[in-house]
Amino acid sequence: MSNYSLPDLNKARFRSFGYRADIIRDALKMDETKSHLGDGLFYHVITYGCQANVRDGEVISGILEMMGYSHTELLEQADIIILNTCAIRDNAEKRVIGEIGFLQNYKRIKPSLILGLCGCMAQEDVVVKHIIDKFPSVQLVFGTHNLYELPQLIENIIVNNERSIKVYSQQGNIYEGLPSVRTSAFKASINIMDGCDKFCTYCIVPYTRGQQRSRLLDDVLAEARDLVARGYKEIMLLGQNVNAYGKDLDKENGDFARLLNEVAATGIARIRFMTSHPWDFTDEMIDAIANNDNIMPFVHLPLQSGSNEILKKMGRRYTNGEYIALFDKLKSRVRDIAISTDIIVGFPNETDADFEDTLRIVEYCKYDNAYSFIFSPRPGTPASKMEDAIDVEVKKERLQRLNARLAYYSKMNNLKWENKVVKVLVDGPSKNNPSVYAGYTPQSKLINFTLKEGNIGDIIDVRVTEGKKNSLNGEQE
Ligand code: SF4
Repeated sequence: MSNYSLPDLNKARFRSFGYRADIIRDALKMDETKSHLGDGLFYHVITYGCQANVRDGEVISGILEMMGYSHTELLEQADIIILNTCAIRDNAEKRVIGEIGFLQNYKRIKPSLILGLCGCMAQEDVVVKHIIDKFPSVQLVFGTHNLYELPQLIENIIVNNERSIKVYSQQGNIYEGLPSVRTSAFKASINIMDGCDKFCTYCIVPYTRGQQRSRLLDDVLAEARDLVARGYKEIMLLGQNVNAYGKDLDKENGDFARLLNEVAATGIARIRFMTSHPWDFTDEMIDAIANNDNIMPFVHLPLQSGSNEILKKMGRRYTNGEYIALFDKLKSRVRDIAISTDIIVGFPNETDADFEDTLRIVEYCKYDNAYSFIFSPRPGTPASKMEDAIDVEVKKERLQRLNARLAYYSKMNNLKWENKVVKVLVDGPSKNNPSVYAGYTPQSKLINFTLKEGNIGDIIDVRVTEGKKNSLNGEQE
């Protein structure tokens, strides 16, 4: 196979009407040689970004282990280090470039070390050209569409001592049956779809991940049932826009509401899903959340802006009124639901009045949690070409004002849980204080608590003793 195939953002834009992705079940080619290439060697995968990337990282680990590699936490022990990257914001990319610079030191000490880059950054032509020109020590680059080619790409580096740079810009297919190493024995993610066709004007994802491709309901259910049989307690259904699940499949396959109901029927203790686009949220989906006790009462509902003018420029396909109507419906029909959001501040030429509209929605929705950012232009997207006369200091000041209100409501919402008993899935010792345990409530609130009896992976009752800005404290009942 040719070892060079470079990404092309123009090709990545292409969408054909009625496109149906192929479902490929035997893509991984693992002959005798490849399945022993990593014997006695170690790998380390560094993942940035969203849950979809984390899931890709699990698949990459699974493929490497099939090749004989063993996982190591120690960079100095690794024989292959793969950076699984995110392209959503400029500073995420800068961090990765800095990390490559740092990892080159390990390559100097151990010349046989393979440094690799994959994920959404690898789908950007400017990034790959930069890597080719400036970082000759990075021998391996592959994209989001060809994880299954990893064995051939590594074989080429080891056997032929050549760089393997292979990225496809295409609508994409669905690859079933790839191995994976799950990072938890009781919480698992299932990719229900990949790609996105919404083309919000600021977003690079439709270019890096390809056309929306939903997996067949039966394949998702088979994976869910297998996890239940293996004792898993929580499943996260993942996609760039889960509410659009099934729109690219035959009607008989069903939509996200059906998927939710059928995954709930597997008997798994907890179901979560991420991410929702307000435009595709139907009443049937709300019913599914309301009617199934094992679907957790938590929805991440990105607002992005409260200004209709900005929403239009963003290509978000809803107005602030429609967003509020959906928000109200979720609040009234799903008991104790918590709602979080994403907000972009300083979209090109956002006026004071536009920003005040965003603040008004925040005052109305009183979000449980929120992720807020200053607009970061992504090369190749329409928003990156929009004129912008807003000073960066104005954007920073707006973000500060917004964050103060978001923090206030986060704390207010957490205070409401004081003295109540909540069900918590025990994740393990708290990262900040190993003398207590940490887990999440049904509303996706992080809680640190004392554990009297039980184990990691159990679902236990915890009484909330304190509501803080970003988390809760509690004691096992
Ligand atoms: S729906 Fe989400 S992933 Fe798709 S383009 Fe919009 S922001 Fe990006």
